[in-house]
Formats: sequence, C-alpha cells, structure tokens
Amino acid sequence: MSRTWWQQMTPEQIRRCADSPQVTIGAHGLYHNDLARTATTSDVDELKESRRYLESVTGKAVNALAFPYGSYTKPLVQAARKLRIQVSLCHGLFVSRRPAGT
Ligand SMILES: [Zn+2]
Repeated sequence: MSRTWWQQMTPEQIRRCADSPQVTIGAHGLYHNDLARTATTSDVDELKESRRYLESVTGKAVNALAFPYGSYTKPLVQAARKLRIQVSLCHGLFVSRRPAGT
C-alpha cells in the first residue's frame, strides 16, 4: 500500500462506504481545524458545510460527527445537537455513541 495515510477518500469511496449497513458516515469538519481552539461562529458553519458535502455525495442524511482531535467546547456540542447531529467526543477508531432508544 503506497498511499499516504492522510490521503482523503474520493467521493466514490465515500459512496461505497455509505452503501454498507455496517458503516456510519459522520462529519469531521472541512479543514480538520481544532475547533475548540478557534471557537468562532464559523466553526458551526464548518460543521454544517462538512455535513452538507457528505450528504450531497452519499445522497443520505448524515447525523454523526466526530470533532477533529477530539477537541470541542460545550457551545460547539450544543450547536451540533441543535443541528440534530449525534456527537462523538472521541477521535480515531472509536464509534459514535447512539442516543438512547435508537
Ligand atoms: Zn481526524
């Protein structure tokens, strides 16, 4: 495998993953910014826009999010929840936790 670890997935690769019932596609920001450090209103726009992009690629609703670096603030978590996004406070191989009853 000669690809570098940071290479982004292509839209086709994202679509193929989204087709699997075992995969949940979640937003992860547009620029992989540490959102707790920048903490501006544009961070919420970044969450919205990263979700919109994934929804446009997959044709499916995207309601999961993992903050880059696992870095977040309480206002960002609240903003994400207002957008009906399930929030994962982990980063890496951990899976988003699902709200009770789902
Ligand atoms: Zn990341």
